[in-house]
Amino acid sequence: MKFGGTSVADTERLNRVAARLIERAKSGDDVVAVVSAMGKVTDDLITQAEQITPSPSKRELDMLLSTGEQVTIALLAMAIQQQGYEAISFTGSQVGIVTDAVYSKARIVRIDAACVLTALAQKKIVIVAGFQGRTLDGQITTLGRGGSDTTAVALAAGIKADACEIYSDVDGIYSADPRIVSKARKIDYVSYEEMLEMASSGAGVLAMRSVEFARNFDVVMHCRSSFAPSDQMGTIVTGEDSNMEDAVVSAVTHDTGEAKITIRGVPDRPGVAATVFDILGQNNVNVDMIIQNVSDAGLTDISFTVPEADINSVSSALEIAMKEIGARTWNIDKDIAKVSIVGAGMKTHPGITARMFKTLADKGINIDIISTSPIRVSCIIAADQTEEAVRALHTAFELDLDD
Ligand code: ASP
Ligand code: MG
Repeated sequence: MKFGGTSVADTERLNRVAARLIERAKSGDDVVAVVSAMGKVTDDLITQAEQITPSPSKRELDMLLSTGEQVTIALLAMAIQQQGYEAISFTGSQVGIVTDAVYSKARIVRIDAACVLTALAQKKIVIVAGFQGRTLDGQITTLGRGGSDTTAVALAAGIKADACEIYSDVDGIYSADPRIVSKARKIDYVSYEEMLEMASSGAGVLAMRSVEFARNFDVVMHCRSSFAPSDQMGTIVTGEDSNMEDAVVSAVTHDTGEAKITIRGVPDRPGVAATVFDILGQNNVNVDMIIQNVSDAGLTDISFTVPEADINSVSSALEIAMKEIGARTWNIDKDIAKVSIVGAGMKTHPGITARMFKTLADKGINIDIISTSPIRVSCIIAADQTEEAVRALHTAFELDLDD
């Protein structure tokens, strides 16, 4: 059972989570809880670091951020003990979550959950800090924002849990962000593939890596609300099966957390793109969409999008790349948004892309970059048109709940 930051935001909520865990343990289940930092603690820690330096050492930043979850696990264990049940907390490192050495977005390479199984056998509720691990030589790492979801899925796989329940302040996955689209509908079942596309295109409920992990290790994820009663249905993320409706479009997602980089005056010869993206890759920048314009007099422009959080790494990488390829200038545009439509049925239905473009055109929304996968179409548009675009697409693809 994984509880996100809002679910453990203060001591009163911690007590409620504790009660919920005890209730489950008393029903006969072995219970492992994975928790996030309380409320906005991770954001606050990042702000504090930024007040000291604009580009903190990545090792020290992970050292700092991992403390957020450590506070939660200790307090939650105390809350459970205070309510008369046995509990023990572990950090990611203690629980044997071994990662690679890429600070701030480390990947889990191994889990040795022996201490979890031992504590469960002693009938204790086990509390594990989300979002963190350690390298083979003992350095503290974090798994990227939202990484507690990944901890939960990885642990569930590691101990062969029957279920992996992800509790947050929303009661499931919606066909669009309900704060923007009042007629958004809750989705009961969604496949790993669709969920991966939704998570990578902005659906905030689950971290993308956690879904990847779930698919690779066949862990069924159950997204539920920590504030609703325990019989509330939520959303189940699982492999494709017959009782899933094959909707042409299941969801409209958006992401305003990316920035667009344009490199101008790039010599149009083989190997240039390889050089640029190789250097970005070496700096661990996750490039999303790419567009290269037709060349004019042997020079071309390349635009691509990256997470805003990666902008520091992009700058240093591009300084190197620009010299190597002899390009003219580059600039960043942060006022962009990505809107996407996702649906497994898209594979077999022609005309979906055209309908998306037409819908945006009718609203006078200009499309800057386009990218597609077999089950997703994404467009980069101006940030201030995001909400209008999402609402129009939700209506156009007949996702609105009947009033
Ligand atoms: N506390 C971390 C974050 O805010 C990890 C998580 O909550 O999943 O990103
Ligand atoms: Mg989260």
